[in-house]
Formats: sequence, structure tokens, C-alpha cells
Amino acid sequence: QDFSSFQLDPRILDAIKAMGYVSPTPIQAKAIPLVLAGRDVMGAAQTGTGKTAGYGLPMLQRILPKANTSASPARHPVRALILAPTRELADQVNENLVAYAAKTGLRVGVVYGGVDIRPQSDMLRRGIEVLTATPGRLLDHIEQKAVNLSQVEIVVLDEADRMLDMGFLPDISRILNLIPKSVQSLMFSATFSPEIKKLASQFLKDPQLVEV
Ligand code: AMP
Repeated sequence: QDFSSFQLDPRILDAIKAMGYVSPTPIQAKAIPLVLAGRDVMGAAQTGTGKTAGYGLPMLQRILPKANTSASPARHPVRALILAPTRELADQVNENLVAYAAKTGLRVGVVYGGVDIRPQSDMLRRGIEVLTATPGRLLDHIEQKAVNLSQVEIVVLDEADRMLDMGFLPDISRILNLIPKSVQSLMFSATFSPEIKKLASQFLKDPQLVEV
């Protein structure tokens, strides 16, 4: 199997080629068609399996048609939101998404705590369509009205088990409450504790389980 068997835009396929990816990993082969079909997905996957492209490529495809190049921030609302537990993971996810979206014109960016908030606020106010964030810092930006989540179409909880271990459940709940109910939701976790299952049951609609 190769990536051309998926319904992905040539601009995304070009980026995959530029990354040197030849064939999809097992999680990508399973997750990409489901995400493209608009399904909610619960993925059991560790880092190193290619899960970022597994959700990232079809996520970009889903938000591609409405992309535009206007300079007005109001025309660049956040349409895809990825929550990650740590600065390191958020940076890594963002770097991948920047590469996958390189030819799409979509604006891609990241915010996390422990660094100056101002450059992040400036970036958000200019408009970001694909935002990766750690939960606490995202809430700071929401409180400062630097970002609005009312146009989010796809939300991803990456390493959900680690986010729960780090005590982010209240922050995640507050964030998810600000996103439209019609959102497509994806969740990835290396482990399936009762807490993870509970979060999935509250947050995913008729999820497809993807395991590798
Ligand atoms: P991840 O598990 O998403 O952190 O990805 C692990 C590494 O595998 C990253 O460096 C990706 O760029 C790379 N990768 C993801 N998908 C593929 C693929 N289909 N072929 C080759 N490398 C890939």
C-alpha cells in the first residue's frame, strides 16, 4: 500500500513525499480512512508508531477546502486543535504538522508554558488554523482572549494517558466545553486505564477503536 491509495490532496501527498515516507505505518493504514470519513477515533498507539501523521494528514485534508489566504485574523480561526501533555511533544507534533501542511497555505503553530507568552499571543492574534497546545497555556490564552475555539472542527488529545497522569483533566474539560459539540474528536493513548475509558466515553461519539 502507498499513500496515493488515500483520498489526500496532491499538496499533502507532495509533502509526504518530501518527508521521504513511502508506505503508511500500520496505525496510519487504519486511522487515515476513518479520520477522512469523519469518524471519532480512539487510537492505542505509542510515540514512534507514526501516530502523528495518522491523525495529522487526514485532519489537514478535512480542513483543507475552506482554507484561504486572507490576511485578516477573523478569517483564520482555529479549525484543528491538538492537545499534548508536554512542551517537547507539542513541539514535535507541530514540527510534523508544519511539514505536512507546507504546501497547503494553512497556518500552523504551537503554544506551551514555560516561555514568554507575548510572542504566542501575537501569533494567535494574527490567526492560526492548526494549533497544537499544552492545556494550561492554552487556557491562559483563552482567558486573555488571544484565541477563540468556536470554529474548531477537529480536536485531538495526544498522549491522553500522560495528560491525565499530569492532572490536566480539569483543564481538558474546560477546553472541550468551549468547542462546538459537532466537533470530530480523536484520542490517542498508550494505555487503557479506567480513567482513559471514562474520558473516551464522555468525549468521543461512537468511536472506532484503532490498535496496532
Ligand atoms: P510519531 O510516532 O508520530 O512520533 O512518528 C515517529 C517518526 O516516524 C517520525 O520521525 C515521523 O516523521 C516518522 N514517520 C511517520 N510516518 C512515517 C512513514 N509512513 N514512513 C516513514 N517514516 C514515518
